[in-house]
Amino acid sequence: MIKDNLARVQARINKVNHTQTVTLIAVSKTKSASDIQQAIDAGQRHFGENYLQEALDKIQTLKNSKVCWHFIGPIQSNKTKQIAQNFDWVHSIDRLKIAKRLNEQRPDNRGKLNVLLQINIDNEPTKSGFFPEEIDEVIMQIKSLSKLSLKGFMCIPNPDNSRISFTKMAEIGERYPNLDMLSMGMSHDLELAIQNGATFVRIGTDIFGKRD
Ligand SMILES: *Cc1c(COP(=O)(O)O)cnc(C)c1O
Repeated sequence: MIKDNLARVQARINKVNHTQTVTLIAVSKTKSASDIQQAIDAGQRHFGENYLQEALDKIQTLKNSKVCWHFIGPIQSNKTKQIAQNFDWVHSIDRLKIAKRLNEQRPDNRGKLNVLLQINIDNEPTKSGFFPEEIDEVIMQIKSLSKLSLKGFMCIPNPDNSRISFTKMAEIGERYPNLDMLSMGMSHDLELAIQNGATFVRIGTDIFGKRD
């Protein structure tokens, strides 16, 4: 049951020695609004979605619940408007162009949109995200966007070397003490991520079961 799975994941988080606050994001992509409702009933508040259209349907269905929605998937330019209108956090800022569009399209009545920079931490040419050496310049540019609040960094490491990748992310985090949110760690490696300073862990499978 989703409720028991949430408790098990929370227990795993609590078991890791850490001093930072760790927020559990339940990644509900491909899962139904009623699955999300079960998690809400069990006390879960943060949800992560990757695909805009199905996310919008669920956000609409659950609009009377107190949910904090995180967009964590790849972003095409033509999707930024609805992301800016409907989400509280965006973890997957991987191009300056996307940040600028979200800034222009964030409605005035919604407050600032919290954003994280996705980092291509393993320097993989086929993966999205900024390269570590680009970060200084990108931060400067994003700071001038008044509707965005830049909070930190996110990565999706190559699972074969997530230990090294998380360590590198921790080093990046230390270089920017004002950007203190680190989104990293999934079902299989959340412990390692928390040991390296993760403040958001993004857990799908171990809460909602396998995806089709
Ligand atoms: C699907 C997904 C997750 C959750 O992965 P699980 O292995 O199911 O826990 C986390 N982060 C991102 C970016 C994802 O796309």
